[in-house]
Amino acid sequence: MGAENAPEEFALWLDGKPYPAASGARFDSRSPFDGTLVGRFADGGEADAARAVEVARREFDGGTWPSSPSRRRYEVLSEAARLLTADAENVAMRMVLESGKPVTLALGEVAAAARCLEYYAGLALSAEGSAVSERNPQALGLILREPVGVAALITAWNFPLLGVVCKLAPALAAGCTVIAKPSHLCPGPTLLVARCLTEAGLPDGVFNVVTSQQERGAVVGQYLAASTGVDKIAFTGSTTSGRSVMRAAAVNTKRVALELGGKSANIVFPDAPIEDAARNAIGAFTFNSGQQCSAGSRLLLHRDVHDEFLAALTEHAAAQVLGNPRDPATTMGPLISEQQHRRVLDYIEVGRAEAKLVTGGGAPSDPALERGHFVEPTVFDGVDNSSRLAQEEIFGPVLSVIPFETEQEAIALANDSAYGLAGGVWTRSIDRAIRVAKSVRTGKMFVNCYNTAGLDDMPHGGYKDSGTGREFGTVGLEEFQELKTVQILLR
Ligand code: NAD
Repeated sequence: MGAENAPEEFALWLDGKPYPAASGARFDSRSPFDGTLVGRFADGGEADAARAVEVARREFDGGTWPSSPSRRRYEVLSEAARLLTADAENVAMRMVLESGKPVTLALGEVAAAARCLEYYAGLALSAEGSAVSERNPQALGLILREPVGVAALITAWNFPLLGVVCKLAPALAAGCTVIAKPSHLCPGPTLLVARCLTEAGLPDGVFNVVTSQQERGAVVGQYLAASTGVDKIAFTGSTTSGRSVMRAAAVNTKRVALELGGKSANIVFPDAPIEDAARNAIGAFTFNSGQQCSAGSRLLLHRDVHDEFLAALTEHAAAQVLGNPRDPATTMGPLISEQQHRRVLDYIEVGRAEAKLVTGGGAPSDPALERGHFVEPTVFDGVDNSSRLAQEEIFGPVLSVIPFETEQEAIALANDSAYGLAGGVWTRSIDRAIRVAKSVRTGKMFVNCYNTAGLDDMPHGGYKDSGTGREFGTVGLEEFQELKTVQILLR
């Protein structure tokens, strides 16, 4: 990639400007494709997080943003969307370099992030409160929505741009001030968004970014979760980290939203459009190389179509193009890190012992890919739903096929999981589709599609161990608002 000699340097973003970490420390970002140095970041610690909280608090308690007219918020957010779109290639390339995400997916993520900014710009403009006057003619009640305060956003690496923008855009639309702490594995896109917002006219100190290397990242995350200067935590990450955020946040009864892991069931009935379902089932577990919380990583397959479906699935798996993420033909890039690579390969070994390998089963043999953390699309059949393969989140391109015979059995299998994030149902029967969609206890269900309906403004979030709270849509804005009532007695 030729970046070894001159990696781009990034500082923290505090009070509208780049800042070095208080300790002066920095950390390197290396490409998961070939290990080259692709960026150098300030390694922020607790002192930097404290400074970010102080600045965001100052702007919330005495700055102009929280009480700004909605037109101002609309203008800043829509201008940021425009600037992000104008810088799409640069922002996408940052994701490609740091995370190994294929460039077509990265460009798609920039477009989705810009749409998200536009969506909340529109909501800011159209926001209205309500009044109650009918219950007592001598009184008037007002229902007001106010910004929740200082919001800390702690994010994961798998959607390093959209994952922060889907929190940031509603937070700013609501009038909050914000501190973002991106994952050490792909911090660049958050800093590029900070620049766009400042250029778009966001007042200094309203959006601040603290980057940190791995161990310090958890320390900074815990600091923000426990800080009494923070009013709301919006967290995306593993269920284990989410639980510790929730515990720390209890200190000042912060508002907490957690977007956590998943192990979603994609259910195929015999009357499904088999070819379409097989193509989508591949996307459901290989999109972003399987590093997606909503992945359809359990395929519940009716026995009557089992053989036909697996044949189609194997064909589509073979059509996936593992390659250089900079190449537009690549559909699957490397996994994010050596640690994640090892973890996924270990799960494949578990699978070999627990079930029957259908296709894939390890790193590809192509020597051009040997420096990258690649894993082939891997399918195991005859998986027992109580096994580790079916119960634990792998976060890689590994699919567990679980056969079933009746609708009740499929629903019971889908629900037999600690998680409850997403799911799919494939059938031509509208009655069955609705019955199943209503019976599976998850935050979202797809009918005859999987993540492909193009409805990206629909609320997203989980039941059970998949978290609490929702992102996107109008409810995503409400997550950053407090509701106040004012009762006026007429004299
Ligand atoms: P992670 O939990 O290791 O880290 C997430 C973020 O939290 C990072 O910024 C990290 O520095 C920080 N962090 C780590 N430990 C912390 C702690 N104890 N206290 C506070 N902050 C802490 O997760 P990850 O590996 O970055 O992301 C993968 C996980 O994220 C998967 O489980 C995936 O399912 C989940 N995820 C969920 C969604 C969703 O919308 N539900 C979306 C994307 C990813």
